[in-house]
Amino acid sequence: MRKQIAAANWKMNLTLQQSTELTDALLNEDLKDYQLVIFGVPFPYLQTIKKKIAGKRNYFIAAQNCHFKKSGAYTGEVSAEILKSVQVDYVIIGHSERREYFNEDHQMLTEKVNICLQNNLKPIFCCGEPLSIREAQTQNEHVEKQLKESLFHLTTEQFKDFVIAYEPVWAIGTGKTATSQQAQEMHAYIRKVIVEKYGDDVAESISILYGGSVKATNAKEIFGEKDVDGGLVGGASLIADEFSTIIKGLK
Ligand code: PEP
Repeated sequence: MRKQIAAANWKMNLTLQQSTELTDALLNEDLKDYQLVIFGVPFPYLQTIKKKIAGKRNYFIAAQNCHFKKSGAYTGEVSAEILKSVQVDYVIIGHSERREYFNEDHQMLTEKVNICLQNNLKPIFCCGEPLSIREAQTQNEHVEKQLKESLFHLTTEQFKDFVIAYEPVWAIGTGKTATSQQAQEMHAYIRKVIVEKYGDDVAESISILYGGSVKATNAKEIFGEKDVDGGLVGGASLIADEFSTIIKGLK
């Protein structure tokens, strides 16, 4: 079974105390071997939450971003090397909010993916189309281009076990969720594009998460689709009961 993942993206929310309370409430989920929980937390909380999950099987932390340069005079930024030094496991790369508000383009995302891999950090690479593209029904081409531009320089070895999050921009934080059928169609398409480049074994090993207004009431149905390997969850990951139900919705 491929890894099935419930990944929380807390974004710029929660105080330290709220974040530790939330984590405490979620630490005792009964996870199967192939089920992972990842907390995507603000930088200042990484070490605290890492300590909280110590010894908990299949719990991990993610940073929500990293800089694309190795080190240097980039005031306010955080490098992959710094993240690794505080035992970060995953890094969310290319979230649509960063593409939109911080002008992250595919060149920059390629460099971020590379520097993460060089530091043994696992990228969670986000892709997804805005509403205008969905309305024009060119979402497959759009997502394929995002993958090809930022990921398809990777070797087979680097790409194995990769995590991709398909997040239609029109569904993020809007309360408007893709139907499970729309999610499945895109996930199957992404896997097909990966088969063409890397072959069946690699494509089968990759976890493709769905993101966009996942909540307790829709998680199980969406995660039940064949090519959906869990979710990247924003708003609903801030509420312990909601996220706990989402975790329980994993295959
Ligand atoms: C996200 O930020 O990755 C996300 C999917 O947010 P939400 O669940 O709030 O739509």
